[in-house]
Amino acid sequence: MRTIQNFIDGAFTGDPDGKTFTKRSPVTGQVIATVTEAGAAEVDAAVSAARRALKGDWGKLTTDQRVDLLHALADGITQRFEDFVEAEMADTGQPRHVMTHAFIPRGAANFKVFADTVKTAATEAFEMVTPDGAGALNYAIRRPKGVIGVIAPWNAPFLLMTWKVGPALACGNTVVVKPSEETPQTTTLLGEVMNAVGIPKGVFNVVHGFGPDSAGAFLTQHPDVDAITFTGETLTGTAIMKAAAEGVRDVSFEMGGKNAGIVFADCDLDAAVDGIFRSAFLNTGQVCLGTERVYVERPIFEAFTNRLKTKAESVSLGRPDDPKADYGPLISLDHREKVLSYYKLAVEEGATVVTGGGVPDMPEDLAGGNWIQPTIWTGLPDHARVVREEIFGPCCHIRPFDGEEEVVALANDTDYGLSTSLWTRDLSRAHRLAGEIEVGITWVNSWFLRDLRTAFGGSKQSGIGREGGAHSLEFYTETRNVCVKL
Ligand code: NAD
Repeated sequence: MRTIQNFIDGAFTGDPDGKTFTKRSPVTGQVIATVTEAGAAEVDAAVSAARRALKGDWGKLTTDQRVDLLHALADGITQRFEDFVEAEMADTGQPRHVMTHAFIPRGAANFKVFADTVKTAATEAFEMVTPDGAGALNYAIRRPKGVIGVIAPWNAPFLLMTWKVGPALACGNTVVVKPSEETPQTTTLLGEVMNAVGIPKGVFNVVHGFGPDSAGAFLTQHPDVDAITFTGETLTGTAIMKAAAEGVRDVSFEMGGKNAGIVFADCDLDAAVDGIFRSAFLNTGQVCLGTERVYVERPIFEAFTNRLKTKAESVSLGRPDDPKADYGPLISLDHREKVLSYYKLAVEEGATVVTGGGVPDMPEDLAGGNWIQPTIWTGLPDHARVVREEIFGPCCHIRPFDGEEEVVALANDTDYGLSTSLWTRDLSRAHRLAGEIEVGITWVNSWFLRDLRTAFGGSKQSGIGREGGAHSLEFYTETRNVCVKL
């Protein structure tokens, strides 16, 4: 059993009052770690440390020095690759190959990519005509925004946390991170690497705990936090936005989705079935970009549904270290209760259950885990809650459509606007629809291809702002204009 502590001002600290919570394995249900819960005093200490570092050693570094340190940090993560993989597998219960191919290497890459982005970033300059004819030169400079509060989710913990901490530090800010209570380990481990590679103390701080009346709320309500970046549920974002209104602090939000996959009859059917399958079930459906609404053009509706069913029924669930396991369990028993409540609701709302719909039989040693069956429905009305609300489990509803106009209206009939995937051989149509579907990211004949230099974020209630490449600079720096009379 591990003990996970807060990381404040370069040191691991327990709570003086001994307040802790437990982390259970999603795979077995057994307690695997005791985690120190930060109270208001610890959050205040972390924010103060971040402020001191900003004005001290960290703030005095040149961009080149910062960039070198962030490259060293990425290398330091790679040197402890196996420790990160083990910790993330233990917290999430997802297979080793997901950790080794995506979660951990992408986490390390986030530091290099954003360091290089900052190193090569240009700013604007305008020559201006003045009434006396002498003219003036305007140019922009960028300065760090200050102390950034980072609130992270549990579904791809290390990748999504570093996606924020990487650009924040590259731009010269300092951070206080509140990882999800479900996934405290890799963020804490990062503190060790920060110390090992010589990142000054106070630049990166970690406070553990929950949301309301705990570390999350204490951090977002702290008056000395200059800006808040958050990934998580839209409802949580609403609470954080209210907290940020006090003091008029800036926010960047990456939130929920109810993403549509749109499959036209002229698609490459093999590719479309594979793509929708991955997008619905990867990470046991716990992906913000995942597809929970599938629209299939009527001539191929039956063939598509049958093929997706066959694939879903071939999914192998197992321990992270089982090489045959495609997916692990859900993150927690609470989350399984939520997903199962939608499985029940789907039937009440009139769905035909194509496959799944419950809890699978697992071997005795895994019986305490949060296992769940991949599930497909058809036949629900468009107003059904199962079609409208984010479930965040391994499930999707498939509905037939007739023509472009109908499917655009269906895809846009949602409060969310994160992503969509289009499957068609008609590229003119793909370009046309990409302009009409109200989302931050449209994939054509693909899903989850991410170039870290591109803009990432959601429309409508899926987010505020864009992060990625140079877009992250807009949030993590303040642009100041200098006007020089010539
Ligand atoms: P969540 O909103 O429950 O929790 C996210 C974080 O917010 C956690 O650290 C939690 O402790 C904290 N929190 C909760 N209430 C808070 C409060 N009142 N004040 C401050 N902090 C608070 O989300 P989750 O269950 O961890 O993650 C799943 C959700 O995240 C899904 O909705 C998913 O779509 C979304 N998500 C979005 C993206 C994206 O890029 N758009 C990426 C991943 C996940």
